[in-house]
Parts: sequence; structure tokens; C-alpha cells
Amino acid sequence: MVTSLYRVEEESKSIWVYLEQDSGALEAVSLELLAKGRQLADQMDWELCALVLGHKVKHLVTQSYAYGADQVWFADQSLLEHFTIEAYAHAAAQALAQGKPSVFLLGATPNGRDLAGRLAVRLKTGLNADCTGLSMTSEGVLVSEVSGFGGGILALIQMERHRPQMATVRPGVFSPLEPFEGRNGKLFEIQTDLSEDMIHTRIVERESGQGIDLGRAPVLIAGGRGIDGDFEMLRQLAELLGGDVGATRPPVDEGHIERERQVGQTGVVCRPKVAICCGISGAFHFVVGIEKADTVIAINSDPEAPIFEFADYCVVGDVHQVLPALIANLEETRETAYA
Ligand SMILES: Cc1cc2nc3c(=O)[nH]c(=O)nc-3n(C[C@H](O)[C@H](O)[C@H](O)COP(=O)(O)OP(=O)(O)OC[C@H]3O[C@@H](n4cnc5c(N)ncnc54)[C@H](O)[C@@H]3O)c2cc1C
Repeated sequence: MVTSLYRVEEESKSIWVYLEQDSGALEAVSLELLAKGRQLADQMDWELCALVLGHKVKHLVTQSYAYGADQVWFADQSLLEHFTIEAYAHAAAQALAQGKPSVFLLGATPNGRDLAGRLAVRLKTGLNADCTGLSMTSEGVLVSEVSGFGGGILALIQMERHRPQMATVRPGVFSPLEPFEGRNGKLFEIQTDLSEDMIHTRIVERESGQGIDLGRAPVLIAGGRGIDGDFEMLRQLAELLGGDVGATRPPVDEGHIERERQVGQTGVVCRPKVAICCGISGAFHFVVGIEKADTVIAINSDPEAPIFEFADYCVVGDVHQVLPALIANLEETRETAYA
């Protein structure tokens, strides 16, 4: 068995969370992980530590305390201005070797996944990737919930002999805490020996996406194969209800809508107040993406569709008839209200 860089007996009884930032703005999943980390640290009576890497990002230290961290491990260097895997992995590995946390959590974002994989190899430890739940045993062993074999099983994985116990967690699984302004903590400035020749990635151009943030939409209008690619109808409804449009995998695969809008096991986990599922059968892979919705409304022409077992309100009917009628009704209500 490969032994990790530090042993269980050497761990510092702490939970570390990697706070991913871009141009000084934190990824939402980092705050979600701080909230879960806080809960687990309180359960164990351990310290919760935030790992902050970047350049000119000192404001994130105060933010880390406000969102629950007891300590911030902080490296501020020009070579960390933009994410490059070599620089971030090097700085993070040095901090982890110094701080020896029991648990290290990262968001399952593209950069978080990249960083986690590299670090697990460097630290000779295991990594539970893409988790949908976390808990701790009373002995301080992290239990990571991961769905496997195409979602057919839910595996609970424990890593008893290797440290840190690493996990990446899907965005949207946990809710962030309300910030407690003025809360304070302990700052550790990390001294890294990072140098330019270690970085083999050259950033030629930076391009920002359109910023689809489905995980935070208050109203989700999701379309499945049953809408026959007519997402315009869903966009109109979303606009009227102040929501956003998502989809199951088939319309994404068929190119009717962007992949960022796929909801479910291999898509986004959403927690809207209301989810309206249109022409969706209710496969497990999709349902995991909306199970945190407060209210689910399903429209399906098949009265036996599995989605109805999960929905709070069931509409048996053709989406091509139900949705235009609903849109017309809402438009009329809106016109009357503004008249
Ligand atoms: C490893 C793996 C990962 C996956 N990840 C995801 C994922 O992240 N997200 C995801 O969504 N899927 C995922 N899938 C696919 C998933 O298993 C299902 O195949 C998919 O969710 C089905 O999509 P659907 O409900 O749109 O289509 P279907 O199952 O074909 O259902 C279409 C529904 O529309 C209804 N319908 C048809 N016409 C009308 C009409 N005119 N009016 C009203 N209702 C109508 C039908 O009665 C039917 O219930 C994954 C699969 C695998 C193997």
C-alpha cells in the first residue's frame, strides 16, 4: 500500500476548503463547502480552514471568516494571478504539507477537478470525485456519497489510512451560510518557492462565458424529449415567471440547447423554489438534479410517467397545448395588472 505524505497520527484535526476564485470573485461552490465544512468541523470540534490562492485577493480573507472559516491559509503572488495548474498545485501542495489537514474539500468545477487530481497524486492520497453528500464518523473518517454505475448505486466511500481525505463536491449540493460580518480568525501566510520556470501553461487569451447559473435560478423550467426541441415556448414561460430554462440530456445531445443547461447527475444540481418539468419521463439521472426543489410541477401526456411519483402537482396533457395556454394566461394576467 502506498503511504501518503503524512500519516493519520500526524493530521492537524482540521477541515480545509479550497476557495476557488476568478479575478477576486469566489465560485459559489466554495461558500457552499465552507457551510458544510463548518457543520462537520463543529461536529468534530475541529478547526475549519480556508485555502486562498491568488493575487490581490486579500479581501477574500475577511470573506472567508464571515462565511465560517476559523483560519485562512493564504498565498498572494503575481504568479497566482490566473489559475494555472502548475502554480496552483505547487502552492496548494506546499500549504497542505505544512498544515496537514484531516480533510480537504474542493468544488467539482473544471479547475477544482483539475487541481484535486494533481494534488491527490502529489500527496499520495485518495480522492472521492464528484460527491453529492458528505458526513463524518465519530472517529473522524469522512464519508463521501458518490453515485456509481450510471446512477444505479449510491456508494458511501471512506478513506481510513490516507491523509488528507480529499473530495470534490458538485456545485449546488449544499447551501451557503448567511455571512457573519465582523467575524474574525487566524491568518497563515504561505511562503511558496514558486518560480516562473515551473509554469508551462501560457495564457494567450481569457474569454468569459455567458454566465449560465442554473443552480441558483428561483424558478426552473425544464424541458425533455417530449417538447420536441421547442425551447422557445419554455423561454417565454421562464421570462414570465422570472426563471431560467434547463433540459434533460436527450435535447442537449440533439443540440437543441447548451450543455450547461443540462440538469441531473451529469449536469447541474438545482435548488429552485419551483421546478416545472415539461415532457420529462423522470429518470433517476434527471431527478437527482431537481430533488432539492421546494415544489415540482410535472406536465406529461402519459399518466403513468415516473415523474408523477416525484411531483407535487401533476398535469396530464400535451405540453404543446398546456404551455401555450399557461403562457397566454400569464400574459393576460400581467397586462391586467399593468393596465
Ligand atoms: C451515466 C448516465 C448519466 C446520465 N445523466 C443524465 C443527466 O444528467 N440528466 C438527464 O436528464 N439525463 C441523464 N441521463 C439520461 C437519463 O437516463 C434519461 O435517459 C433522460 O433523463 C430521459 O430524458 P427525457 O425524460 O427527456 O426523455 P424520455 O425518457 O424519452 O421521456 C420523454 C417524456 O416525454 C413525454 N412526452 C412525449 N410527448 C409529450 C407531449 N407532447 N406532451 C407531454 N409529454 C410528452 C413522454 O411521455 C415521456 O415521459 C444519463 C444517463 C446515463 C446512463
